[in-house]
Amino acid sequence: MNLAHFLLNSRGVRNLVLRANSLLNRFGFSPAKMENSLNCGIEMNQELGLKLSLPVTAIILERHPEIIRNLQDKGVELAVHGYVHTDYTELSREKQLEHFEHAIKIFKKQGIRFRGFRAPYVKWNEDTMAAIHELGFLWESSKTVMWNVLDDYEASLPKKNWEAYKKVLKLYNPVDAFAHPVLPEIKGNFVEIPLSLPDDEMLVDRLHLPQEKIKEVWQKILSLTYERGELFTLQVHPERFPFLREEIKSVIEQARMYNPKIWIASLDEIARWWGKKEKKTRWPNGARSCLSITGDIDALTLFDFFMRIFGK
Ligand SMILES: [Zn+2]
Repeated sequence: MNLAHFLLNSRGVRNLVLRANSLLNRFGFSPAKMENSLNCGIEMNQELGLKLSLPVTAIILERHPEIIRNLQDKGVELAVHGYVHTDYTELSREKQLEHFEHAIKIFKKQGIRFRGFRAPYVKWNEDTMAAIHELGFLWESSKTVMWNVLDDYEASLPKKNWEAYKKVLKLYNPVDAFAHPVLPEIKGNFVEIPLSLPDDEMLVDRLHLPQEKIKEVWQKILSLTYERGELFTLQVHPERFPFLREEIKSVIEQARMYNPKIWIASLDEIARWWGKKEKKTRWPNGARSCLSITGDIDALTLFDFFMRIFGK
């Protein structure tokens, strides 16, 4: 078998090429492409009266401080997404603590306010939680919860898409939303805010679900959380803001139509409310449920993305 034939038929290589293509769609050699995506987030924030919560890896903040500071100046809420984008469950408690302390130092040095934390790859263990507790974060949002609302699309999508989707799902190890209440929880001195799945990456990159259907999925979760009086934390990575802008907009517009209303809040606001001792109702001001839009800033350039391989 010649090499070209082998490469073309190799599933691993084909996947690599497909992933490279998706990467090039998201990031450029300079941060210009991501800046454009982040500006789209700023516009949505202002236009839709949102308060986006964007966790950012500290090394990205260190490399591109002006871009991240601009987000804060324009009313976007930021949080810590580790020092580097790595699987922290592979590090000891001491190492995790060291990394998060270093991340905090960088945030402080750059004048970026933060109250919360989300682990890279949403991978955490008890040592991660102990470090979060020790460092005095107000909230943590790495525990995932899965809304199984995709049955209607099962037949219309190729089997290989489902396989790719299930593979990531296994990595995330979520709890089932139909078996547990989906609400924040007080854990010692911080508030744990569950992150809803499927996220944008699962729907776009793995499942290749058409945009119209992505909107349907989000609307289904929104109405389920409303019926149950619970929380929908919608994760869209900022590099997909331009691509999913209309879908995000329509979910917000739909959320504003409910009566009693849906509280559209940032993760800081949710944690502050949930931690209040004198709170008499589940959500403030007569709201029946809560919606928050969040998205991790993992990289601003292709260089940032590839440096992750080396833990940098
Ligand atoms: Zn991430």
